[in-house]
Amino acid sequence: MSTSGSTSDEISTAGLLASAIEVRPSTAPVSDERRAEILADPGFGRFPTDHMVRIQWSEQHGWHDAVLESYAPLVFDPMTNFIHYGQSIFEGLKAYRHADGHIRTFRPLANATRFQKSARRLAMAELPHELFIASLEALVRADAEWVSDDPEKSLYLRPFEYSTEIGLGVRPANAYEYVLIASPAGAYFKHGVKPVSVWLSDDYVRAVPGGTGEAKCSGNYAASLLAQAEAAAHECDQVVWLDGIERRWVEEMGGMNLCFVYGTGDAARLVTPPLTGSLLPGITRNSLLTLSTDLGMPASEEAISVEMWREGNESGEISEVFACGTAAVITPVGHVKSRAFGSWTVGDGEPGPVTMKMRRALLDIQTGQGPDKHAWMHTLV
Ligand SMILES: *Cc1c(COP(=O)(O)O)cnc(C)c1O
Repeated sequence: MSTSGSTSDEISTAGLLASAIEVRPSTAPVSDERRAEILADPGFGRFPTDHMVRIQWSEQHGWHDAVLESYAPLVFDPMTNFIHYGQSIFEGLKAYRHADGHIRTFRPLANATRFQKSARRLAMAELPHELFIASLEALVRADAEWVSDDPEKSLYLRPFEYSTEIGLGVRPANAYEYVLIASPAGAYFKHGVKPVSVWLSDDYVRAVPGGTGEAKCSGNYAASLLAQAEAAAHECDQVVWLDGIERRWVEEMGGMNLCFVYGTGDAARLVTPPLTGSLLPGITRNSLLTLSTDLGMPASEEAISVEMWREGNESGEISEVFACGTAAVITPVGHVKSRAFGSWTVGDGEPGPVTMKMRRALLDIQTGQGPDKHAWMHTLV
């Protein structure tokens, strides 16, 4: 099966609705000294910026009351619906400051579209694309000083939505809140790119077709933690999910999609498991299918079983394996461990040349260090 990646993500109406967001600047922003200290070593998801955006939805008014205000705790009635029944979805994207001083983000319309799909799957109100993009622009404008000019660093943007109806009745809620927060992120690999070891989970599954695996919902993560702990108990960095029915077909690694490199050099080709309904359709995954073709390397979506993975590594047919997603971009997989299928090393256990080439190509676009021929970057400020 061959695949065409997506083309440019034009947003003609972006910014028009930014004026619909009321701006109430923080009266107590973090000091310049403290912010500089945080930006020197931000880690991941540890420090909030000064502001957040909140937008309300009700049956009567639709989306309304959009405000940018000080980052602060959200306060809930104990009967708030989402705490009990989990109508809660999120997104994740990164903003980079480019050498021209502008701050840009990667394919935000794809995130806006996926956010709507996640909302639909959980019977939640769908935020219009224009408001999603306007919220990103408003927050990054207000917190622009939180975006480092170091291309290794970024500002992680976390949009989320949850039900706010108060009451214990089980039904789609009649009220929702959308919130956007941001947090500075450091280089994922501080000491050079390091391959991860993975545990093939045979006790637990992440998702099944028809379930919520395609949606970026909080519950998927809660359901993954025990298997992740099991991976750690087997001295592995990450869990790899197999399909929920035959428990044989490779799906994803933790919160990232997987790519397999068959062959080497000019004969190399990229293969990623197809979106069967239980995988999360990653925007990084989708972009790499396009980028691979740009780099002259055929790409396709093909089912890969655990046996095919092991035998492919043993014969040398599979030369590299890596995981991809917004947070870590591209992470090589070095070792595989399991109870039922044995253990093996991928290639020589070191980051491979195709993995590193694709990682560089994607980062060059995202950080503005290379041409953006698909117009994937969206200027926020
Ligand atoms: C978010 C996510 C991904 C990666 O998606 P990107 O859009 O590339 O960041 C992959 N798998 C799961 C389970 C996810 O939640």
